[in-house]
Amino acid sequence: MANLRSVSVDPTAATAWVGSGATLGELYYAVSKASKLLAFPAGLCPTVGVGGHFSGGGFGMLVRKYGTAIDNVLDATLVDAKGRLLDKQAMGADVFWAIRGGGGGSFGVVLSWKVKLVPVPPTVTMFIVTRSVDEGAVDMLTKWQEVAPALPEDLFINVVIAKQVAKFQSMYLGTCDALLPLMETRFPELGLNKTHCKEMTWIQSVPYIYLGSTATVEDILNRKTSASSSSKSTSDYVRQAIAKDVWAQIFAWLAKPDAGVMIVDPYGGKVSSFPESATPFPHRGGVLYNIQHMNFWSAPTDGSAQTKWLKDLYAFMGPHVSQNPREAYINYRDLDLGENVVVGNITSYKAAKVWGEMYFKDNFQRLAMAKGEIDPEDYFRNEQSIPPLLKSK
Ligand SMILES: Cc1cc2nc3c(=O)[nH]c(=O)nc-3n(C[C@H](O)[C@H](O)[C@H](O)COP(=O)(O)OP(=O)(O)OC[C@H]3O[C@@H](n4cnc5c(N)ncnc54)[C@H](O)[C@@H]3O)c2cc1C
Repeated sequence: MANLRSVSVDPTAATAWVGSGATLGELYYAVSKASKLLAFPAGLCPTVGVGGHFSGGGFGMLVRKYGTAIDNVLDATLVDAKGRLLDKQAMGADVFWAIRGGGGGSFGVVLSWKVKLVPVPPTVTMFIVTRSVDEGAVDMLTKWQEVAPALPEDLFINVVIAKQVAKFQSMYLGTCDALLPLMETRFPELGLNKTHCKEMTWIQSVPYIYLGSTATVEDILNRKTSASSSSKSTSDYVRQAIAKDVWAQIFAWLAKPDAGVMIVDPYGGKVSSFPESATPFPHRGGVLYNIQHMNFWSAPTDGSAQTKWLKDLYAFMGPHVSQNPREAYINYRDLDLGENVVVGNITSYKAAKVWGEMYFKDNFQRLAMAKGEIDPEDYFRNEQSIPPLLKSK
């Protein structure tokens, strides 16, 4: 897909067509070249590919203000299993619904997406504040869970938790002078002051938050990640705040040898305002935040100790996260949640429901019907592709 990565921006209409092979960095860069006052709400990492990312939802620091990437997709072009090139009208409403969040590699190859660009102010304010367990990180995380999903939509604060330290990182769509009184009212425990604030443009915030304070805007065009390690992720959604004593136990997990990290991203605001059935991505009203559980390793380590830690932590978290189903995010795809079984050369719907309802809740059946419409012979398949359900059956 890397050869299909043009980005064509219409700043007057506030729309863009982006090829699936573009990276998020290439998309953000092209948008900022066309207008300093427009942005696109998608993930934090500039090397992530538009094709897979949009297919599964896609969220970043603008998620509370503008929703996920797929909430801002207006049209797409798709090549189906028969080799037909289809736009939104030709693919039909069910398939257009399905490709916006139903996960990559199931319905066809999306060549390009038409997206709605969103307004951003000339100045955004970033801050990063770290607190160790000894400095009250357990209390702060307990409070963060209630505060962060209920803040004004212009303010996003997520937390990267590793070893015994919680790193609160934030983007505010406005100036430091406007942010400080808001933080003083809503989250005084963080002790934010002027020295923490870094004012910049939205496009400068992209390298700042992901690549560090010395990275330049041009660095987000680098398609190669600097990461040299292997990693595995899995995810949870939290609908009821986790008790303080459980947070203390989570820090004990993070202190173990071979421990990884936890990234918690608040929802609320725009992302939570859509009905669960608006797109296949169902994690909407009532979700407080998403958790990404993650671990890393490098050769000669084979990852067995790190993946065991991840599996054990996931089991420990079970009682403290969403239930029936235990929700998971398709873009943090985890084959340990279940793999497809093929019966008579067609993926079994019954077996796929195990993982499918975790990612899609009640939208899973509609996704399988859409798959039955566009790819009844199950040409596009993988370990967690949507199985076809035919209307007559
Ligand atoms: C470093 C890193 C940071 C991340 N940060 C975020 C984040 O901030 N927010 C977030 O929401 N997610 C994030 N993610 C998760 C990311 O959204 C998913 O990994 C996503 O699937 C990546 O898409 P890709 O095209 O780069 O990957 P790929 O592995 O190429 O694709 C993923 C899946 O989509 C399919 N696919 C790819 N292109 C197409 C296409 N054109 N048409 C149909 N199917 C296609 C593939 O077959 C595959 O099944 C991150 C991932 C990484 C590795």
